[in-house]
Amino acid sequence: MNYTTYLKSFVDLIFPRNCWGCRSSLQVYEKHLCLRCQLDLPITNFHLTQYNPLYEKLYKTVPLKSASSLFYFHKEGIVSELIHQFKYLGQQKIGLYLGDWLGEVLRESPFLKDIKGVIPVPLHPTKQRKRGYNQAEILSMCLSKKLQIPLYNNSVERVKNTKALAHIGYEKRREEIHQAFEQKIKLKENEGHLLLVDDVITTGATISSCAQALLKNEGIELSVVSLACRV
Ligand SMILES: [Zn+2]
Repeated sequence: MNYTTYLKSFVDLIFPRNCWGCRSSLQVYEKHLCLRCQLDLPITNFHLTQYNPLYEKLYKTVPLKSASSLFYFHKEGIVSELIHQFKYLGQQKIGLYLGDWLGEVLRESPFLKDIKGVIPVPLHPTKQRKRGYNQAEILSMCLSKKLQIPLYNNSVERVKNTKALAHIGYEKRREEIHQAFEQKIKLKENEGHLLLVDDVITTGATISSCAQALLKNEGIELSVVSLACRV
């Protein structure tokens, strides 16, 4: 055991660290997730395939250039646990960690080489005030830094404070979210290829509605990305 490892295990003894996924105690060599949780993460690799299931699902409603997501989303499991903590329990550090990971992955994508800017899906101001932050904006900040491109966080706004969408069916959700977004500040003409970011894509109704509002800008193309998606 070298000196650093010795010191780390000593610190772990006094301040035990727990896995963000399953809460078991972490070993010295584990950072935020235990090895078991890391191996259990349902990685999609969608960023390497243009015609992936997420793209095919969303393209039916909105003309996107590409679509990717770091993980598959299941109702239970590590991913939903991490996202729940990030979104509802104020654990922004989880978002920063996953956002950096997502940025690292997207750097390898052949479909995002010409990305010019990142746009988070906005929350309704009332919801954002209550939560204190927009989870999509935290992810977008990480992507903007990793991909070295600007963050545009006032190009689109959420004008309709929709009900909780997680538990209603597809058609109801589409009705509820219809025209929930409007252009706020017009983007420069011919801004090029932009990346729209959300935390989770389930039915795709929210991100499609937001993308439609953005595509009213002249001369832009959109790709979308999320931490997790249901396909
Ligand atoms: Zn774990």
